[in-house]
Amino acid sequence: MTPRSEPREKVDTWQQITDRIREAIPPPYYSSIIAPLRVISVENDSITVGVPNSFTKDVILSRFIHEISSAASQVCGRNVDIILTVSSSPEIVGTIASHDVEDEVIPENGDKKAGSFKPTPQKKYSFENFVVGDSNKFAYSAALMVAEFPGHNYNPLFIYGGTGLGKTHLLKAIQDYSQTMNPNIKVKYVQTSRFIDEFIATLTLKRDKATFDNEYINNHIVMFDDIQALGGTEACQNKFFDIFNLLYGSNSHIVLSSDRPPVEIAKLSARIRSRFVGGLMLDIKPPDLETRLAILRMKARAETVEVPDEALVFIASKAKDNIRTLEGLLNKVVAYARLYGTRIHLQMVQEVLKDQVAESDRSKKASVDLIQNLVSNYYCISREDLISKSRSRPLVKGRQVAMYLCRELTDETLIRIGSQFGGRDHSTVLHSCKKVESLLKQKRDVFHEVSDITNIINKSV
Ligand code: ADP
Ligand code: MG
Repeated sequence: MTPRSEPREKVDTWQQITDRIREAIPPPYYSSIIAPLRVISVENDSITVGVPNSFTKDVILSRFIHEISSAASQVCGRNVDIILTVSSSPEIVGTIASHDVEDEVIPENGDKKAGSFKPTPQKKYSFENFVVGDSNKFAYSAALMVAEFPGHNYNPLFIYGGTGLGKTHLLKAIQDYSQTMNPNIKVKYVQTSRFIDEFIATLTLKRDKATFDNEYINNHIVMFDDIQALGGTEACQNKFFDIFNLLYGSNSHIVLSSDRPPVEIAKLSARIRSRFVGGLMLDIKPPDLETRLAILRMKARAETVEVPDEALVFIASKAKDNIRTLEGLLNKVVAYARLYGTRIHLQMVQEVLKDQVAESDRSKKASVDLIQNLVSNYYCISREDLISKSRSRPLVKGRQVAMYLCRELTDETLIRIGSQFGGRDHSTVLHSCKKVESLLKQKRDVFHEVSDITNIINKSV
């Protein structure tokens, strides 16, 4: 929307300049950064432009000032300086999340610009299906900023918080979103334990070190999930430090997640720790009741089931510190309702979850060891058989259930679980989990077996 008081000529000049800029930068950046700018004055040797906030100003100065100056010089036929001034004038509308609707540019792929999300429930990890509450709002907005403007502020971004609170979700959302915005962007996501395993394999199998390094350094965004795993192994820390510095030096954005703050990561070298705290550190806290309910409502909608509020409140009271557990409880209720063709209501939920021990009342977590033992006992098979390579039917079933429960009830990654099941690959573990998830929805006996074993495990920890 153009202020009426602006002389035509000034506006025309700016219009011509922005037309040129539009050709020079990717559409999503044009719509979120350039479109909201307003020309304030055009002088002989300078043009003053109003920007909506200091964040946009920083982004322009570090990323787009050259494109704007050269477009302005071409249009004016002389060298002109661009002066950016943060203006809260109503004409300079909005922020990254909201700006003048008339300025919206629909990128070529037909999606709307940054900040206006359409729900796409088929994606597991995206910003759209991340429920924002007081406990996670800062981590969420910082992650979104990185996805939109990698290499800019907040480098590295360090997100920490307990298990199941959405760290991996945010990292994967950064990947999904930045690649949707800019299909040419290179993003690397890695579980730190995998980084370590692959680096050790490079050393022991004498693989090409440069190939390993290149996987990481030639990217715009590199994310290390569960970086707390780095503590301890010195050779890996040195390798990480070198890669970190190369990335940082080339303005790649580094995103780290951890289940604890850097000071609490044991055996982490001081120089790495100081790099971690040198950027932006944000924590995710356990969600309050309102956020847990919002998450449950979203998941229930995605499952297209009706769950009355009182039943949601009951489920939310059973898992306060871990959203993965919260989801698991809802899944269990939904599976039961489908298997028995019943409606979901408070009494039914209380019955299905009656043996569920509230997380906060639990003294410690189950271990892979414990789960393997209890599952073996339950199915009357030996532990050796459970983790063996045998493909006999009862063994395969017991093994898959055991892997599923390890995934559900411990903090172990797929990789670690696989290694404790006779050195299986993480994709095998994932396949087993998916298999059991689908059996739970189809077979009452599997549902009851898994419920029984879960209760036995919960009582044993
Ligand atoms: P972490 O990496 O912190 O252990 P995850 O990112 O794996 O946790 O999250 C666990 C589960 O909870 C995932 O299925 C994730 O989609 C879900 N989840 C976590 N936080 C949210 C949120 N704010 N909104 C919706 N789902 C969430
Ligand atoms: Mg995670």
